[in-house]
Amino acid sequence: MVGFEVADKWVVLKFGGTSVAGRPQWQAIASLAKDRRSEGFRVLLVCSAVAGVTNQLNALASEPGSSHLRESLIDTHRELSRELGVAESDWLAESETRLRLCLECLSDVSGPKNQAALLAMGEYLSTRIGCCFLRQSLDADWVDVKEALEVVQEPGRSAARQWLSASCKAAEAPALARRWSALAPVLVTQGFVAKTSTGETALLGRGGSDTSAALLAGRLSAQRLEIWTDVPGLFSADPRLIGDARLLYQVDYAEALEMAASGARVVHPRSIRAAAETATPVEIRDLNHPGLEGTRIGAGAAAAQGVKTVTCQERMAVILLQ
Ligand code: ADP
Ligand code: ASP
Ligand code: MG
Repeated sequence: MVGFEVADKWVVLKFGGTSVAGRPQWQAIASLAKDRRSEGFRVLLVCSAVAGVTNQLNALASEPGSSHLRESLIDTHRELSRELGVAESDWLAESETRLRLCLECLSDVSGPKNQAALLAMGEYLSTRIGCCFLRQSLDADWVDVKEALEVVQEPGRSAARQWLSASCKAAEAPALARRWSALAPVLVTQGFVAKTSTGETALLGRGGSDTSAALLAGRLSAQRLEIWTDVPGLFSADPRLIGDARLLYQVDYAEALEMAASGARVVHPRSIRAAAETATPVEIRDLNHPGLEGTRIGAGAAAAQGVKTVTCQERMAVILLQ
């Protein structure tokens, strides 16, 4: 029996580094997943590495023999799993083996390909541990995002870009949606990561989890993408720098793209492009205040009037006018 649930009605929720960093955040994630389930959705949670971890991994890539850097990375995740009441036996041994292999490869051959495999460890760790926590109260599975996102070869691009800042085509993928619909109703997967045509790890660029989430929402023909972060939405300026910045409630894709491309880093420009190409509505919401409405980005949203946004690029103010 199919039950009351509408088959294949997906929603994708993305959580950035500060939104996966501790117990209060993972409790909020669990509660959002339950809410979306009760609204009849299949739920895909796309997570970044814990805040600061991709930088730690970058440092380790430059010094793969550093036991201090390796231990501090593991300690960060031990602390998270302790906070979440997740047993180390559920993730530690396998993660250490993967990490050791990545570091051995990098010590043999330094370069963007092996660097990409190491940097992907951050999202692997956050999602493996997070999924164990969710399973304490939800029917959840971990899925490897490399099943879903394959990068396109772009002739003429440097090796560094192909491995560390690659692109994927935005498109629907009904076969993937069918496959994932046969798994648990709440799935957890890595942001930032994709595979090459030969099955190796490539990355979508720093801040790329927004892009992963938009691409995945398109693949699943999701009803919407929710980007959960640490501010209540897209503002006329960075609200952490400008106290009276205005929250924008509705923005169309073109405006959002322009703002993101000129420095509003709350949402990555490539993610707006991917969402626009598959006509996926996007919401930007605050994980610390889940009751707030946030910003809706979509086709036909009312255009802002007057000064749209003020951003800052390398000490230069950029003012976008309507
Ligand atoms: P996440 O880790 O969730 O991806 P980011 O740090 O990438 O979060 O983006 C969120 C940050 O973007 C906010 O903390 C805020 O300081 C900054 N930001 C810059 N410009 C804007 C803007 N115009 N509106 C909202 N936030 C902005
Ligand atoms: N963890 C990656 C980064 O720090 C991707 C992301 O957070 O979106 O850039
Ligand atoms: Mg971000």
